[in-house]
Amino acid sequence: MSEQPWHSVPLNDIYKELESSKTGLSKSEAEESFKKYGPNKLSKKREFKALKIFINQFKSFLVGLLVVAIIISYFIGSTVDAVVIGIIVILNTILGFAQEFKAERAVESLKKMSAPKAIVLREGKPVEISADQLVPGDVIVINEGDRIPADARLIEAPNLETDESALTGESNSVIKMVSVFKEEKISIADRKNMVFMNTTVTRGRATAIVVSTGMSTEIGKIAKSISEQKSPPTPLQEKLSVVAKNLGFAALAISFLVFALGALRGEDLIEMFTAAISLAVAAVPEGLPAVVTITLAMGLRRMAKAKSIIRKLPVVETLGSATIICSDKTGTLTKNEMTVKQMYTNHQLINVSGSGYEPEGYFTKLNKTFDPLKNKNSELLLRAGAMCTTASLTHDHEWKIVGDPTEGALLVSSKKAGMDKESMLKNHVFVGEIPFDSGRKMMSVIYEKDGKKIAYIKGAPEILLSKSTHIFYNGSVRKLTAEDKKKIHAVLDKMTSSALRVLGIGYRYVSSSKKYTSQNIETKIIFVGLQAMIDPPRPEVKEAINISRSAGIETVMITGDHASTAGAIATELGLMTKDDKVMIGIELDKYSDDKLYSAIENVRVFARVSPEHKLRIVNTLKSKGHVVAMTGDGINDAPALKVADIGIAMGIKGTDVSKEASDMILMDDNYNSIVKAVEEGRGIFDNIKKFIRYLISCNVGEVMAIFVAMLIGLPLPLIAVQILWMNLLTDGLPALALGFDPPTRDIMLQSPRGTKEGAISKDTWIFSIFVGLSIMVSTLLLFWMYLDNGLNYARTIAFSTIVVAQMFNVFNSRDDKSIFENPSALFNNKLLLLALLMSVLLQILVVHVGIVGQYFGTVPLSLADWGFVVLAGSLVLFVIETKKKFRIKTAETQ
Ligand code: ATP
Repeated sequence: MSEQPWHSVPLNDIYKELESSKTGLSKSEAEESFKKYGPNKLSKKREFKALKIFINQFKSFLVGLLVVAIIISYFIGSTVDAVVIGIIVILNTILGFAQEFKAERAVESLKKMSAPKAIVLREGKPVEISADQLVPGDVIVINEGDRIPADARLIEAPNLETDESALTGESNSVIKMVSVFKEEKISIADRKNMVFMNTTVTRGRATAIVVSTGMSTEIGKIAKSISEQKSPPTPLQEKLSVVAKNLGFAALAISFLVFALGALRGEDLIEMFTAAISLAVAAVPEGLPAVVTITLAMGLRRMAKAKSIIRKLPVVETLGSATIICSDKTGTLTKNEMTVKQMYTNHQLINVSGSGYEPEGYFTKLNKTFDPLKNKNSELLLRAGAMCTTASLTHDHEWKIVGDPTEGALLVSSKKAGMDKESMLKNHVFVGEIPFDSGRKMMSVIYEKDGKKIAYIKGAPEILLSKSTHIFYNGSVRKLTAEDKKKIHAVLDKMTSSALRVLGIGYRYVSSSKKYTSQNIETKIIFVGLQAMIDPPRPEVKEAINISRSAGIETVMITGDHASTAGAIATELGLMTKDDKVMIGIELDKYSDDKLYSAIENVRVFARVSPEHKLRIVNTLKSKGHVVAMTGDGINDAPALKVADIGIAMGIKGTDVSKEASDMILMDDNYNSIVKAVEEGRGIFDNIKKFIRYLISCNVGEVMAIFVAMLIGLPLPLIAVQILWMNLLTDGLPALALGFDPPTRDIMLQSPRGTKEGAISKDTWIFSIFVGLSIMVSTLLLFWMYLDNGLNYARTIAFSTIVVAQMFNVFNSRDDKSIFENPSALFNNKLLLLALLMSVLLQILVVHVGIVGQYFGTVPLSLADWGFVVLAGSLVLFVIETKKKFRIKTAETQ
């Protein structure tokens, strides 16, 4: 396909050139084109990631030192030592590589989960595909809040406005149109009949034919050298690198002391040198950042299965600290399955039967069935409701709504009366539309009917009424009086307080105008009536609200709906008690920041708010020290989602813009999934804390044992190979398996973690010192007792004691509760038990298989020796578990 000035080519020629039509390509045509054009992606610089990760493993200063030690050992004749240490270093590198590689892969696959989607027409029918499958010739449907997936020429675009700042730097919205531009050479900003990849729709909707994809798009041309952005480390990963670095320095200093003490005492210098360096290597938990990433990524995969996609890794940390969830009502707390139950017109109430979207039901007035089409008022109310929609009702095994369910309910109520939008469109020619906007809370659609232009208007009843001057009464139009308004408001109050969502419906004739705006259409309206619908609460939400309350998290409803409707649903869900308050948008506007600051704590429902209010609510709650999770779906919700500690976008009804501004996406739009995500988040964070605790405390134990031995004049209790082997055992399987620990049962009965409480707290260090002391005491005691049996024997004992102690320490690191109180927890992580079994077997191999033992400087032990080893090794378990018990008791008595 040649490069074309697509804005100046007539649409029909574009269809011909791209072998497409207004109804798009067929599936097979699209597949054929895909082979020709390739994926619609901005190509990224390829990197040999695996190789890079592998080389990185050798870049560590300490590993470098170890290599020096190996070389020295080799040259002075300790070939066996050199080879064995060399092999262990390689094993360590492979472990490090495997962990990091897996971590990278996991993060990559998470990115894919939130890959952008596009709606295309396949033989006229809208279907959702992954945006990278788009090809030239595809007809796309774009809506407000969408990120445009490719460069495309507009086919239909009522009131379309886009934000092209990503491409042109111009921050004002651009108004689009469908006319052809004759001039071939005009700037991108002037090609108003085109939309461009990576720009966003700020208003309206459109269909357009894709003309270029991937690197051939305008953004592709300026971004030829785009290379993939590496996601920055999370604060936790950053903290861990700092801790690892500091530990490295401390370990180096201690190793130097160990070496100096040994040298002063006249020990073998080379043996001391390699041991000291090995100790430094072992003491640094260099695997920590990778294990953290793997644990995060595995946890995120579990969360994705439970319908929450995390877009930004650090949010997992924040989830556990959330103190308040600000949730939308419609679709999140409720089902978003609307059914009209009541109508009001001619100052008369009409009941509508039936449920769901099935258009089966009948109408009753004053307890008598009645045909609404035989009454001018009810006929107009149903007609105006159905015509003022962009949704459609489809039947394929079951009745479904494509589009906004509120509008769907209006289509269903009219169909129950026997009306059909398709046939009404025969005498209604679509002229234009002023789309719904949650700030204005109204929507209008304009048609040409019987030679006149008529606008059907619907919206929040009190707003529609305030803009109405007339009323359709007894089949004709008359002035709207104060008495009418009073009656309508009284009915509205009744409807809303029984949790019904109410729409006001009206119409007016309009003159031909070049541009229809809300100002020139939504005024001097003729009020026709009300349609009131139920939107039942999601059954699982009540329980979820209770769970979050016991977890110390309050839930606040923020909705555009009427205060009484919102209040009634909040009460039904147990979200609000009598002492709690409902605050409405205009009240919020009137409040000063100070007043809002003191009032906000008791507000459980914010009603009739606009997206702009959300920002103020988040900021006020944050200034009160809350950690705020906030949901949103519209384009105007983006600022609040960005500011919230946890911005949550809706997967189903959310716009691309809101998704991009968010930290997390709810695939099913369900409040329940937020609570589940908090639970998972707490669990993941706990597991990270567990293996940090485990790795650091084990390392402190190793260092203490060797350092103290040197201090008190004992010989070196472990030689270099043994230190490195032990490090490999602990850093490997058990640490990883801790990342898979099931969440503690009462994780949602604890209060949110304080924001200052990091994964490495003061407690971690206190814990590590206790573990270190216990391991040191048990190891050195046995070492000293066995010294008479020969140094190699005593070292084998010390070596095995330290390994066994570290296996026991796994259980110490797991829970804040004592294992003696909850022994079943011993067996609830099968992977961990397997890891421990493997580690013990490997240790037995090193001790008992003669040929291996030769290289490790070990001798076989007797059963009685093992008995002592296990007994001494278990000291750490008794010390720490008793400490836990004591701590819990003192906490209870305080
Ligand atoms: P939430 O903010 O909880 O998702 P919501 O759907 O009630 O709730 P909005 O979508 O902002 O909030 O709707 C606000 C009000 O606007 C509704 O109470 C209703 O009166 C009116 N409204 C909603 N949808 C439409 C629509 N498609 N056309 C006209 N008016 C609408």
